[in-house]
Amino acid sequence: MHYWSDGLEQLEPYVPGEQPRVAGLIKLNTNENPYGPAPEAVQAMAQVAQQGLQLYPDPASQALCEAVARHHAKQGIDSAQVFAGNGSDEVLAHAFRAFFVRAGRSLLMPDISYSFYEVYARLFGIPARQVPLRADWRIGVEDYLAVDPAQCAGVVIANPNAPTGMALSLADIERLLEHFTQQVVLIDEAYVDFGAESALALVQRYPQLLVVHTLSKSRALAGLRVGLAFGQAGLIDGLRRVKDSFNSYPLGRLAQAGAQAAYEHHAYYERTIGQVVASREALAQALQQRGFEVLPSKANFLFARHPQHAGADLHAQLRERRVLVRHFRKPRLQDFLRITIGTPQQCQALLHALDAILQQG
Ligand SMILES: *Cc1c(COP(=O)(O)O)cnc(C)c1O
Repeated sequence: MHYWSDGLEQLEPYVPGEQPRVAGLIKLNTNENPYGPAPEAVQAMAQVAQQGLQLYPDPASQALCEAVARHHAKQGIDSAQVFAGNGSDEVLAHAFRAFFVRAGRSLLMPDISYSFYEVYARLFGIPARQVPLRADWRIGVEDYLAVDPAQCAGVVIANPNAPTGMALSLADIERLLEHFTQQVVLIDEAYVDFGAESALALVQRYPQLLVVHTLSKSRALAGLRVGLAFGQAGLIDGLRRVKDSFNSYPLGRLAQAGAQAAYEHHAYYERTIGQVVASREALAQALQQRGFEVLPSKANFLFARHPQHAGADLHAQLRERRVLVRHFRKPRLQDFLRITIGTPQQCQALLHALDAILQQG
């Protein structure tokens, strides 16, 4: 297309999971939270909608950042160490632009991880160096420690990783931080609330650590688009410079109010997160009983394969039975299904559909 900017043709955009336009599907494909947000968050947005929408929102989302800092006070987080953006995808994009564009250096990331990392690297012209997951699907921290840090623009890791769901320990994250000291180490904790250890506890000790959170998964606000970054003041300042060179108002008044209320009503989320974790353990067991290999997940999804059934076939047959799961057409991943943890009823419907499919042989 000759109107396009140079390089646009070569971009390979991220492909999000299907958002079906037909009703009645059991949607277990994009890791949304089946329980919905805290009622208080919805009320806060309804209230804000009644007044003030003619005015621009606070460009810094200060009240939200303060509520988030209060929630994480035990980790010593101060509101000056919190940055808010339009979904963590946007926060990640700003972080890539702010920290990883460094001449002659490449960005380290697992070869199997959240695929937006590769997309952003290409968008910003950052060479990516992909470190293969180990045969047991672990992120091999030892492989990162073998890389000369002087050649690295930074490190980006999802913990728990996607789509495996497997988590690194805090001790492993700390080994990375002791090795990579002159570049940003970004830990994307989109799923951390479902059972992994958060690196927020390390923010005060490591000036190069940036931790990214989202309200889309554990806080069930994917439709609102709110993401957060945590780091020492210098990193937050870098993010702010990029934001204010792109869009000063990434979060509208509704999003700021809803996100703030979500952080102020955590008891609801403790309950629903507990329900998701209980369903995950039950579903993992049920899948294993049906012959699936299930990777050990600390997230709100399972990554599983069946020795006798191709992932693409299972995916297609489940869809025919109105159950949507995610399948990746990549060499090491194509045998697997990524299954979001739904309500117990949704998990049951998935199992019924699978039983019917597996019985057909
Ligand atoms: C879902 C997800 C995100 C994106 O979250 P949004 O805040 O909805 O943009 C980022 N990273 C990982 C690993 C995710 O799974």
